Amino acid sequence: MATKMTKWNRIQATIRPTMSKESYRNWLAPVRFSHVAADKRLHLVAPNSDVQGWVESELGSAIVNAARTIGMDIRSLAIETEAPEPRLVQRSFEFDPKPSPFNPKYRFERFVVGACNEFAHAAAQAVVTRPGQAYNPLYLYSGVGMGKTHLLHAIGNSLHRSDPSMRVTYISAEEFMNEMIKSIRFNNMRSFHQRFRTADVLLVDDIQIIGSKERTQEEFFHTFNALHNRGKQIVISSDSDPEAIPGLVGRLKSRFSWGLMVDMLPPDLETKMAILDRKSEEAGVLLPEDVRSYIATHLHSNIRELEGVLNTLIARAQFINRQITLNMVRNVVGGLPRPQPDGPGIDRIKHAVATEFKVPVAQLDARNNTREVSGPRQIAMYLCKQLTNASLSEIGRSFKKHHTTVMHGIRKTEENLTADEKLRVRVDDLRARLDPPHSSAYQQ
Ligand code: ADP
Ligand code: MG
Repeated sequence: MATKMTKWNRIQATIRPTMSKESYRNWLAPVRFSHVAADKRLHLVAPNSDVQGWVESELGSAIVNAARTIGMDIRSLAIETEAPEPRLVQRSFEFDPKPSPFNPKYRFERFVVGACNEFAHAAAQAVVTRPGQAYNPLYLYSGVGMGKTHLLHAIGNSLHRSDPSMRVTYISAEEFMNEMIKSIRFNNMRSFHQRFRTADVLLVDDIQIIGSKERTQEEFFHTFNALHNRGKQIVISSDSDPEAIPGLVGRLKSRFSWGLMVDMLPPDLETKMAILDRKSEEAGVLLPEDVRSYIATHLHSNIRELEGVLNTLIARAQFINRQITLNMVRNVVGGLPRPQPDGPGIDRIKHAVATEFKVPVAQLDARNNTREVSGPRQIAMYLCKQLTNASLSEIGRSFKKHHTTVMHGIRKTEENLTADEKLRVRVDDLRARLDPPHSSAYQQ
């Protein structure tokens, strides 16, 4: 039976070839035509707010364009939902609050704030106070064990506590990918979309793994847009800044930098001490002063390792029912396997130098040759040469400078370090933080 195609059907048919079958069936097909208002606004009706939000954000301009293609004089678009959604679901939370899906150990209260992570901590708290408004997305990055996952869960815990009905979703990028693959296989993309695109806050851990994974990036791109367009908060963690993720598509790189990007540095001595104090206190164990400073000075790289050593010590001390002693620590620390880390990478060096000398990191690549900028830039080049395997031209490229400029910068820095004691201490400290002197420390 041939029915006459309405104009709306023709619009749908125009857009249909640009979408996957599944997307079409899930999103565009269920939308109905309502009317065209006097102000040339096309009014449509979606069965629920998920479809409404998705179609609005993903297909809004395509619909208006398609309408024009078939000769309709349309200025804008309005999509309403069929019926107000039942409030029942929301209310039931009040009587039967779901347990928090976040790790109860990873709370703000248990996060020790120091110079290395204070900015990340403040940004995470701002997200809790004003989700979707303060920084969107918030992008946190650091090497392993610096507290990214901890902060993501802290955000989740905190939001869940203040409003249990808020839909806060935490997922690692790897799980996101696996779930997507499963959903494709079982023809279940609709609920996959529903799950992520209806979140009020989406926390995505270790995003770097989606680099080079095209389909996952595509899917995440749409998830990101659907949420961001509706002012929903997105928080992302990564092991590096978006530019340094191999195979990450440009449109994701640019979106990731829309909000705020914060890096978390390896802990400085004070923060390490504070963390040891806090953790031993939580465990109800007394940490003698010499033990505390031995651990803090001999472990550099990350907080997870600091925690690991402390836990081992506590377990041993309990086992033999004695206090933790310096000897015990030497044993534990000396026995650690030391995989040689592959170093900090040019990007981390630039960020660390920029932070230390209080210049915006972008200035290091700029054509600005004032002393305030060229000094730190030369130091960064010098550290790149020392701490990475990059060639002079590679370093040059990453600073948008010629390799001879790099060579000059390195020489200049060497001179300055010989002449300026204070500067040398500062740069040595910076280097130690970027590239912990494991090998020598562990041979004692
Ligand atoms: P990342 O995700 O950056 O690899 P994690 O968040 O998993 O690091 O942190 C590793 C461990 O160190 C966790 O047990 C976490 O609780 C702890 N940790 C990290 N940063 C801090 C901090 N500032 N204060 C207290 N504990 C921390
Ligand atoms: Mg993590």
